[in-house]
Amino acid sequence: MAKKGAREIVALVCTVCKSQNYVTERNKVNMDLKGKGKLQIKKWCKRCKKVQLHKETSKLK
Ligand SMILES: [Zn+2]
Repeated sequence: MAKKGAREIVALVCTVCKSQNYVTERNKVNMDLKGKGKLQIKKWCKRCKKVQLHKETSKLK
């Protein structure tokens, strides 16, 4: 029983234009311990040409 399921690859999509700008890895175990829900990060969106709030999604394009 190694590290299976501990890490999860998620995509970050712009909440405004819905374009998938980033792909990241998150540690599911840590996230669960924090008790947080969906990851939300402010990042640069090249489509909006400004910093927007990005939300995680498990749907990778
Ligand atoms: Zn955008």
